[in-house]
Amino acid sequence: MHVDVPAKVHEIYDEVLRRNPGEGEFHQAVREVLDSLAVVLDRHSEYAEMKTIERICEPERQIIFRVPWQDDRGEVQINRGFRVEFNSALGPYKGGLRFHPSVNLGIVKFLGFEQIFKNALTGMPIGGGKGGSDFDPKGRSDAEVMRFCQSFMTELYRHLGEYTDVPAGDIGVGAREIGYLFGQYKRITNRYESGVLTGKGLGWGGALVRTEATGYGAAFFAEAMMTVRGESFEGKRVVISGSGNVAVYGIEKVHQLGGTVVACSDSGGYVVDENGIDLEVLKQVKERERGRISDYADRVASAEFVEGGSVWDVPCEVAVPSATQNELDDDAATVLARNGCRYVIEGANMPTTPSAVKVLRDAGVAFAPGKAANAGGVATSALEMQQNASRDRWTFEHSEARLAEIMRDIHTRCHETAEEYGSPGDLVLGANVAGFLQVAEAVHAHGLI
Ligand code: NAP
Repeated sequence: MHVDVPAKVHEIYDEVLRRNPGEGEFHQAVREVLDSLAVVLDRHSEYAEMKTIERICEPERQIIFRVPWQDDRGEVQINRGFRVEFNSALGPYKGGLRFHPSVNLGIVKFLGFEQIFKNALTGMPIGGGKGGSDFDPKGRSDAEVMRFCQSFMTELYRHLGEYTDVPAGDIGVGAREIGYLFGQYKRITNRYESGVLTGKGLGWGGALVRTEATGYGAAFFAEAMMTVRGESFEGKRVVISGSGNVAVYGIEKVHQLGGTVVACSDSGGYVVDENGIDLEVLKQVKERERGRISDYADRVASAEFVEGGSVWDVPCEVAVPSATQNELDDDAATVLARNGCRYVIEGANMPTTPSAVKVLRDAGVAFAPGKAANAGGVATSALEMQQNASRDRWTFEHSEARLAEIMRDIHTRCHETAEEYGSPGDLVLGANVAGFLQVAEAVHAHGLI
């Protein structure tokens, strides 16, 4: 069958737009993958015939539900819960839960769609999904967060299972929330099903290195990119946005690998510390006190707090956007490139806008997409599931060595696929094509379902 590839790609994208109105982030994520897949359709007309891409763009199931709960003053609150079970060709749906006021169906779908390819790249048997709520945990007491999590799980539990759908954390969902969610699941089902959630506490089924995994993994991925160019982190100035889970452990590993992180941020502004971010102070402020990044500058004499503004104004050789989607736009990319930035590694999901990616590419900046560079978190979640299934517990060293190996393998796969498909150095194309090919093969093997 002859396929007019550009027309076919257009047709698929138009249908996604028609069927999912108003879901801008989802459109953006699909567009980026489709732009890479033309080269695949050129070589594999069977994927056009079998509508494989169209099938992958349509979630297997989308669940939306009401989450009622009472705050500490006794006032009734209503939030909306989501779980998008996107694709189970490679294994149970796997992907985090996000609690943030900005959460809506389009954001959950973009994250779930990305997750399909990311999970495939890890080489682990996990499908793609994502979920969350527009609940804002910021400023809420522990008791309020617990009541919210219990109400959320009271609906979600019926869709989960260690062989069905296995959520983890994401923005606004850390160890505290996973604990409350797991407790409610156990209570309703009367099953101690460890493998139903990942990111659990170390004392009750959690795995060493899961907390550190996404940030560490992004640093390992960056190191692999540098190795190909005969370089390393040694002596490099690094800026990491955010100061949450991904950012904190990204900073930790970059420092261990010889780089210096001179700035990080939160939604209120950023801090610059020319001595390198003091991780102990940062962890105290962010992990224990749940405070603001400005508190860091109040405690560290060498640090300066800049309210609002762009952390990307701080000159660096390596930038690791690790806060949220579309946080690095083309103006920021232009500034980064002008200031001598040579590597951008996405710690967050889709933090770089499409036009910023183009600016970076045109300036010769090496760029790593999140679906490859931040896959360490979900890969280590799969290792947690493996330990739960075998009632085993690995050491920190063994788990970290597995993570490092997985990240190097993902890099190699993206790098080699980009070469094989005629775009050497294009890790976006490499990640999309390698991830897609693995999922597509399984989709075919399972028949038209
Ligand atoms: P987190 O612990 O909740 O931290 C998020 C950080 O980003 C906070 O410092 C937050 O600042 C900042 N942030 C969030 N929304 C923002 C906005 N609209 N503008 C400016 N700053 C904002 O979340 P995380 O787990 O580190 O996740 C960060 C990113 O990595 C997300 O894109 C997530 O999907 C991705 N990711 C996470 C994992 C994982 O294992 N955790 C794995 C793969 C990918 P405030 O506190 O001021 O809001």
